[in-house]
Amino acid sequence: MDAATTYRTVVWSAGAGCHGGCGQKLVVKDGRLAQVEGDEDNPWNQGRACPRVLALTQYMYHPDRITRPLKRVGARGEGRFEPISWDEAFDTIEKRLKDIREKHGAESVVFAQGTGRDIGGPLTFLAYAYGSPNWAQLGLSGQSCYTPRLGSMKAVMGDFGVVDCSQFLEKRYDDPQWQPPEVIITWGQHPANGCPDAFFGHWIIDCMRRGSKIIAVDPRSTWTTARAAHHLQIRPGTDGALAMGMLNVIINEDLYDHEFVDKWVHGFAQLRERVQQYPLEKVAAITEAPAEQIAAAARMFAGAKRGAIHWGVPIDMCADSTAVAHAIICLWTITGNIDIPGGQVIARPSHGVSTYPYSTEELVQLYGEELRQRLMKKRIGADAYPMVRDFRGWAQPDMVIDQMFTGKPYPIKGAWIQTANILGGQAARAKFHFEALNKMEFVVVVDLFHNPTTMALADIVLPAATFAEKDSLRAWWAPLSIIQKRVQVGECKSDWEINFELARRFDPESTKRWATLKDLFDDRLRPAGLTFNEMAEQGGWKMPPEGPFKPYRRHERGLLRRDGKPGFSTSTGKVEVYCETFKSWDLDPLPYYREPPQSATSTPELFEKYPLVMITGARSQLYFHSEHRMIPWLREKMPDPLVEVHPETAVRYGVQDGEWVWLENDMGRVKRKAKITRQVKPGHVHTMHGWWLPEREGKAPDLFGVWEYQINTIVPGPQCSKSGFGGGQYKTTLCRLAKMGQ
Ligand code: SF4
Repeated sequence: MDAATTYRTVVWSAGAGCHGGCGQKLVVKDGRLAQVEGDEDNPWNQGRACPRVLALTQYMYHPDRITRPLKRVGARGEGRFEPISWDEAFDTIEKRLKDIREKHGAESVVFAQGTGRDIGGPLTFLAYAYGSPNWAQLGLSGQSCYTPRLGSMKAVMGDFGVVDCSQFLEKRYDDPQWQPPEVIITWGQHPANGCPDAFFGHWIIDCMRRGSKIIAVDPRSTWTTARAAHHLQIRPGTDGALAMGMLNVIINEDLYDHEFVDKWVHGFAQLRERVQQYPLEKVAAITEAPAEQIAAAARMFAGAKRGAIHWGVPIDMCADSTAVAHAIICLWTITGNIDIPGGQVIARPSHGVSTYPYSTEELVQLYGEELRQRLMKKRIGADAYPMVRDFRGWAQPDMVIDQMFTGKPYPIKGAWIQTANILGGQAARAKFHFEALNKMEFVVVVDLFHNPTTMALADIVLPAATFAEKDSLRAWWAPLSIIQKRVQVGECKSDWEINFELARRFDPESTKRWATLKDLFDDRLRPAGLTFNEMAEQGGWKMPPEGPFKPYRRHERGLLRRDGKPGFSTSTGKVEVYCETFKSWDLDPLPYYREPPQSATSTPELFEKYPLVMITGARSQLYFHSEHRMIPWLREKMPDPLVEVHPETAVRYGVQDGEWVWLENDMGRVKRKAKITRQVKPGHVHTMHGWWLPEREGKAPDLFGVWEYQINTIVPGPQCSKSGFGGGQYKTTLCRLAKMGQ
């Protein structure tokens, strides 16, 4: 019996599921994980941990965990699989995908992932070795999760920006350079409930403890809104109108930072003219938030010496979300908050190391401009949407699923699905996704548990490793980190191990320079001047060195532009509130607001029939998207899929607390248990996405109850955005309640 040993590592994906970044201590005994504890020495989370990572032992050793490669026997949906060896799995996949490539071209296979887990690196590596341009967050209508905001930030200010919570500084809050934001707007995000996109949610609370005041923009009431100086409880999907209204107040009351605007802003005069179209009364009518409160919030933000905005996915789910993101970027810009202590600090991958193409520059850094140009020719959506063509390397997901179904302009014959339970998770028009994917000649799913997607579609299922069972890299801003394998479960392999092996089979020439995966990691770590093993010897993480990857005021010091001149990485060298890049993409160069595709204003007849606005997808500490419903410690906290209903709405429909009801519209109906609460306003309902029931029958037609509980079966598509990015209708779809038996 071995004594227990405690190892340190960093979290990214499977197990906790999330965007990761925190440091955890893993207590290992006899080769098995016995316990998880937050790593107090890791600067990112400073010892803190969420329920999901603390429940890792139940996840890793769950009786239903898939620990060997599986081959489907019998028809799709029968749920019959037999274990096979890795060799047979790799050989079968190699043969089937090469046959498809031979017959239909590499572009006829789509490489699909879920959200920003540790997957963009291994998946693009595999897709491009195979020769397919079609890397997609399949199912996520409009790619409506961070990409629209990232693309807008790149276009408008040449870089990404996040709230400065001292996360780029080794000494964190004790660093003398850092000052707390005076005011933080939490826009469509309840930070305590999750760690979105390389951001530790509790940093906002750390700032509140150090004096930061909160302005909360959220249709729902939460722990954060209850502690806010102003809670702007807007109508879902009207975020753009609110931002334009706040800009109207700040500009017309002369509250903006003249010095910053005069020196670093392009197109202010045009912006001033545009915001005149958004007087407070009009904005109050659109947003259903009081005009005086909007004005007070605008004055408070503009009046702060240091202000910042922490925003969430609802921005991406607005109609024409890139214009909404543009308006919000203008708020932190004209108030002079870019890259100052306690402001909107510029976020760059630490040491210039890239592991995941968050931007076009990183895509080119990883794979070269020649490949990017070559892939663009057949990438789905690149010809229809200039922004999709030029920003990152995604295929446009709504167009991918339509093309899978129609086979036009060219057929799609195969799907590689990794870290994505498409049918039970992100897919708007979920049933249509099933029909289209079921047309594929060959489908491989890489996952850790059976779910509706593996059961309904997979020909081969490959068992993936959790973060405790893999080596990997993470350079999503700071710190630069390595993930170190500490235990082995069954025959599970990491996404990198699986994709590296197959990439070498599909393109031996371009991969021969790396004999091992560690060679590839060392190659990617080159900009940091360290190898994987050296990182391990030095604690596993590194904060950014002085220079372009570390704050503050880099625009003044010539650390942002490639030519070393002061300014921003944009065509004008300034922050473009009148955006030349948007103009070159045939988009409006100025921000504006567009009404949601479904509402009392845009679809009055539909609203007559379905008068409730359905908000889906608020984060939970217990479940990450469609994961973790089989984990007892987590499931006992929320055993059933709930719908939040205001008491007045409940009376209107005769619904009692705890009663099972239907949420329905013309797309179908979904079951929920009613939770009567004042967290939502009358006329709005909120429910979590990603629900399916692991305890139900897995084989078709039941598929773990997915068609009864998956809210996205009644969320329409395609996206509602001119840029091709954003506009997924997950927060604004109309519905009504119906009692069981009706
Ligand atoms: S949600 Fe946060 S605390 Fe939990 S595992 Fe992910 S990064 Fe760590």
